[in-house]
Amino acid sequence: MKIVKSSAEMKNLSLTYQTSGRTVSLVPTMGALHKGHLSLLKLARENSDISVMSIFVNPTQFGPNEDFQKYPRVFQQDCDLAEDAGCDIIFAPSVEDMYPPHYSTYVSVEKITECLCGISRPNLFRGAATVVLKLLNIVNPQIAVFGQKDAQQLLVIRRMVRDLNLSVKIESAPIFREESGLALSSRNSYLTIAEKKDAPLIYKSLKKAELLYNQGERGAAIINQAIAEELGQSSLLKPEYINVVDPVELKPVDILQSTVLIAIACWTLESGTRLIDNIVLGGSL
Ligand code: AMP
Repeated sequence: MKIVKSSAEMKNLSLTYQTSGRTVSLVPTMGALHKGHLSLLKLARENSDISVMSIFVNPTQFGPNEDFQKYPRVFQQDCDLAEDAGCDIIFAPSVEDMYPPHYSTYVSVEKITECLCGISRPNLFRGAATVVLKLLNIVNPQIAVFGQKDAQQLLVIRRMVRDLNLSVKIESAPIFREESGLALSSRNSYLTIAEKKDAPLIYKSLKKAELLYNQGERGAAIINQAIAEELGQSSLLKPEYINVVDPVELKPVDILQSTVLIAIACWTLESGTRLIDNIVLGGSL
């Protein structure tokens, strides 16, 4: 496995592969890799000759009071995990390489970034779309893989790719969970023991919603209420939002007629960790 730290070198390397007829895939991550990330890598490897995993804690997608400084950085461990999983290249640029002095260009995907996570994290999608476009331009992959764990981000990236006529194919991978149902996340390492015990309630509440849906319930208010009740069983979880939305405009629906995304963001009250999770009913993203 090669470790590349310069964007110029990454660009050249990718060009070399492609001129020799090999396809390249990209899995963008912020590191602190877990099995969810590795499942994306597996999909990337199955669909390309050369897999590139980027590891970059992107400062522009964090707000001033968010966890950019304390975000877990375990580069050597990440390299070992990626190599064991068959990754061909780790691309880990520096902040200075990605954002040189006088950096001034950002991608702003409108509307679908203004709801759900975009409300409490107004920089998130502008930063994420910008860094993903930069990574796509540097690595120039035929496919890029994103997790449904960050469903809104996946939809924002797909929208950007469509709107800006990019050639890359966006693949999505299902949410990888612990046995408890808790979605794997690099931020789970912040959780206290008690929070870790309660956090699976988030998925349990989504499964409750799915059960109601399968029993024929179509009222969003009732489904919302059931989720809130389930989460209310823990004094350590405080929902930021529980939303039943359509997957195109991300607008709340009253009646679950066609495909819906049920998305949850929850704060934990001991460590102040923000957890997100979701489920798609009546179709797929
Ligand atoms: P992150 O390192 O958190 O920025 O995530 C990098 C990529 O991994 C994103 O496309 C995420 O959606 C995806 N990802 C994170 N957690 C999971 C998970 N539990 N299951 C599947 N994909 C995930």
